[in-house]
Amino acid sequence: MEIQDKYEVVIGLEVHAQLLTQSKLFCGDSIAFGAAPNTHVSPITLGHPGTLPKTNKKAVEYAIKMGIACNCEIEHRNYFARKNYFYPDLPKGYQTSQHTTPICKGGYVTIKTGSGEKKVELNRIHMEEDAGKSIHDIDENYTCIDLNRAGTPLIEIVTEPCMHSSEEAYQYVTELRRLVQWIGVCDGNMEEGSLRCDANVSIRLRGEKELGTKVEVKNLNSIRNVKKAIDVEVKRMIGIVENGGTILQQTRSFDATNDTTFSLRDKEDANDYRYFACPDLAPFHLTEDFIGSIAAALPALPNVLTKKFKEAFGLSEYDASQLCDEKATADYFLAASAHSTNYKAIANWMLGPLKQLLNDANTSFSNIVLLPETLASLIKIVDDGKVNFSVASSKLLPVLMQSNREPLELAKELNLVQVSDTNDLETWVNEIIEQMPDKVAEYKKGKKGLIGLFVGEVKKLSKGKADPKIVTDLLQQKLNS
Ligand code: ADP
Ligand code: MG
Repeated sequence: MEIQDKYEVVIGLEVHAQLLTQSKLFCGDSIAFGAAPNTHVSPITLGHPGTLPKTNKKAVEYAIKMGIACNCEIEHRNYFARKNYFYPDLPKGYQTSQHTTPICKGGYVTIKTGSGEKKVELNRIHMEEDAGKSIHDIDENYTCIDLNRAGTPLIEIVTEPCMHSSEEAYQYVTELRRLVQWIGVCDGNMEEGSLRCDANVSIRLRGEKELGTKVEVKNLNSIRNVKKAIDVEVKRMIGIVENGGTILQQTRSFDATNDTTFSLRDKEDANDYRYFACPDLAPFHLTEDFIGSIAAALPALPNVLTKKFKEAFGLSEYDASQLCDEKATADYFLAASAHSTNYKAIANWMLGPLKQLLNDANTSFSNIVLLPETLASLIKIVDDGKVNFSVASSKLLPVLMQSNREPLELAKELNLVQVSDTNDLETWVNEIIEQMPDKVAEYKKGKKGLIGLFVGEVKKLSKGKADPKIVTDLLQQKLNS
């Protein structure tokens, strides 16, 4: 038996997502990324005595949105608690968080893995505020503190210890990122720290019921690093156990420069944060109506749309899931499908030439100039044989992507409309037949594959405007007679 098969890996992830509100969780300070240090710091953020925070309704709404998207039960009676601890970038001396009543309970996120679909069970989603930032690399002698981030609204999405490979963890974070972006509660930017993941990892002998001692790995700032860190950690743990050692419960950090983890601290006994309900903040009770109105406004979720794209529009699994990678892409497809029933062509155009040109211009479907109805018109003139696909994609599309012109008009202006008038075509066909007597003779002797060459030559002669279907028919008539 392989050593890896002897052990089962157990993973639970904690993901912090920064909510896309305008202002902080308990005051009006902006949460915009990249502002000059310590400029978004009102007395409330700084925790001055006598200030009175109040709860940001939009943040509560976003947390509920995410809970509904993750099939959670929404808690009606909520309050915020103070989690007391000292930290240089925590000006109040406590973090305002939820304690016994997370706003969302249970739920799951469906992921696709090599062996099919899996529901990753959630323990909870709760709301809390972010701390500020300690910066150690500006000054040689001092740690600098930027409190702009202090008080930024976060949700923490906590799974059960239910994943069993780094691949599952990878798929889960990928799906979570797609979800938060899709419903617009977080920008999902891991480099800027809008989405942060801590991985809890343990191993146990296969068949064992008890969970092994876990290690929590922090500082995973990309989805790839989540996977890598878990792989590294599992290997390290197996090594320890195989050598008769014991795994210590630790908090570790991942160093992406050399693919290792190192210990930050051994876990002390459970910290006593002396939680208590924050007396400055009113508990908030959510009505069924409020929750219902948020549910009603939620867009169709990506896996629902993927299914619809396959079933109602006949797309392949691959096309459907590619189109549902981002909401703007799926919306574009839906908008185009209202103007053209050639759904396969819409998908092909979008995932082929459109995507290519958008990538080249470093932009995406959320900023596309070409309107969905214009793409539909373009597809129609190709289907009607007025312009062939290769001319349409190489000559018309780049112009349309900048200007959203009427495709047929543009094709006429650029003299790209296919000639299907038999008289013109016949002249070109005759000319090619005359130019290539040897090839014609070979063809007549049975080398029928040469038809492609003749069609190509006629197309060249016509500067791409000859309708290849009619040209093929004409050539065959003449050569076979
Ligand atoms: P803590 O109190 O140390 O934060 P929790 O019980 O709240 O621990 O769990 C935090 C995260 O760790 C959850 O995502 C949970 O699924 C995961 N987890 C808990 N125990 C284990 C374990 N033995 N192995 C892997 N993950 C675990
Ligand atoms: Mg934890």
